[in-house]
Amino acid sequence: MNGLAPYAANETNSRGRKYPEPAPTYRTEFQRDRDRIVHSTAFRRLEYKTQVFVNHEGDLFRTRLTHSIEVAQIGRAMARALHLNEDLTEAISLAHDLGHTPFGHAGQDALNHCMRDFGGFEHNLQSLRVVEDLEEKYADFNGLNLTYEAREGILKHCSPRHAQTLGQLGERFINKHQPSLEAQLANLADEIAYNNHDVDDGIRAQLIGLDQLSEIPLFSQIRIEVEKSYPTIEERRKTHEIVRRMIDRLANDLIETTTRNLAKARPQSLADVRNAKSPLVSFSPEIQQQNLALKRFLRENLYSQYRVYRMAKKARIVVSDLFNAFFEDPKLLPQKHLNRARNMENNSGDTGRARAIADYIAGMTDRYAIMEHGKLFEPIRLT
Ligand code: MG
Repeated sequence: MNGLAPYAANETNSRGRKYPEPAPTYRTEFQRDRDRIVHSTAFRRLEYKTQVFVNHEGDLFRTRLTHSIEVAQIGRAMARALHLNEDLTEAISLAHDLGHTPFGHAGQDALNHCMRDFGGFEHNLQSLRVVEDLEEKYADFNGLNLTYEAREGILKHCSPRHAQTLGQLGERFINKHQPSLEAQLANLADEIAYNNHDVDDGIRAQLIGLDQLSEIPLFSQIRIEVEKSYPTIEERRKTHEIVRRMIDRLANDLIETTTRNLAKARPQSLADVRNAKSPLVSFSPEIQQQNLALKRFLRENLYSQYRVYRMAKKARIVVSDLFNAFFEDPKLLPQKHLNRARNMENNSGDTGRARAIADYIAGMTDRYAIMEHGKLFEPIRLT
């Protein structure tokens, strides 16, 4: 890739793959990462996993798949503007939610609760498990054998306890170092994507309205601009126009602020980026405030709405019923997962059995989880 900044991740400064492989013929190493992610089973499952609205609520709401594609789009655009590695940013963005459970955050909280005596469950760590171990597609290794930089980017956060178990990948959480700029970028691209698409989806679902959203300075400034230029614009088009301008404002601010941060910190290499005391990719303090206000608004007005809340409550029931049933009687598991549970139990007792069950449940799509629950708990069903 041409025009990369000296502190961007590239193939020369990459820490490489766990299992060494010959270099790709016509692609970069990070393109290969991205391609493996796109071809993974976990990636296809994202289509039927909830972001905020369950899949069957409507065909136009974001799913984890379209969310991940939006993150990649925003991330790539910002990476290019900053002369960072677009391929790596794209790979991290597309993979960042691979470990998400069915039913969004409610599913993750429920599974974490079920796993409380067995090391807990974090979707972020699970994304790493997917690419390091759970995908079974390649002749020579389990997982996708991604570059260190892609895996570093996927692991956004991690408790110090877990960090101890992750070798080189965990070191930065212990030493308080930073990941690559591409990882920092993908992390904030995620935030830009979900804040904005949740506004759009929330309006589409009629759970929040334009007037209510005008409490948020970022939204109301742009709404005034749009209404001034297009006084008769139709509502749906107006919403999209506001949302696209909000994404633009956040992305532009991030690019400009990060450029200033880089000019001040003067990193000369990826190593300098990793050793920096704080992340170099950031919003300006004003936009950061406005972004936080938007986040708070969505938490208070959208994520707690009864339709979203009901879904969350049902998700908890489905996930914990499944977990408890499988844990008490692993013979209920499909053969492949039963074998894994037995193997892992032989190696690490109850904790191993629980982890195998968590892996199975985390991999489920919303509808698969509902079907499994139906099969196990509705006696009327015979299969
Ligand atoms: Mg995400």
